[in-house]
Amino acid sequence: MNLIFLGAPGAGKGTHAEILSREIHIPQISTGNMIREALKSGTEMGLKAKAYIEAGNLVPDEVVIGIIRERLNRDDCKNGFILDGFPRTIPQAEALDKMIRIDRVIDIEVPESLILRRLSGRRVCGSCGASYNIHTRKPKVEGVCDTCGGTLVQRKDDQPETVKARLKVYHEQTEPLTGYYKKQGKLRTVHGSDDTAATHRDILNAVEA
Ligand SMILES: [Zn+2]
Repeated sequence: MNLIFLGAPGAGKGTHAEILSREIHIPQISTGNMIREALKSGTEMGLKAKAYIEAGNLVPDEVVIGIIRERLNRDDCKNGFILDGFPRTIPQAEALDKMIRIDRVIDIEVPESLILRRLSGRRVCGSCGASYNIHTRKPKVEGVCDTCGGTLVQRKDDQPETVKARLKVYHEQTEPLTGYYKKQGKLRTVHGSDDTAATHRDILNAVEA
């Protein structure tokens, strides 16, 4: 099953892709994480991507498409995958269609007020990358990772000004993808809420429908 998860920043794509990935045993391919790894390791691609991300812009297509192609060719994608954070533009979706067959596209819709609250509250572990939220998913000790004891930080792209820029870019460039996949008959819309288990059930139904 080759799947794509769509949704605004903060809609819960990453969380739900991770849960489903464990459940149906296909890899979650998160371009966000792949790009953050590249930033950390300071590769040529990572350095290129860095300037765009810090300004709240998207990483250029040729850079992202190259990384995705390499990743989908690995053995663990033979029985399927969940793409989370790609494609983000119509040209990327067209490039992906030339690369591989997509079975289902799950669009997680969440009200903007909820998205703003989630993103402004998000904190990530600087050591292991685990994700928390000061409103909904608090660590046991404030500012400290439950898993590894690392320090929790607010990512630059979760700060208010960058969040506004990310949502604007999403509405302009990524939202049109729902129309693109609807035309292909692959789109399933799920209403995301803070009830992770309920949203997960809806996603499972949408995948199987
Ligand atoms: Zn940690």
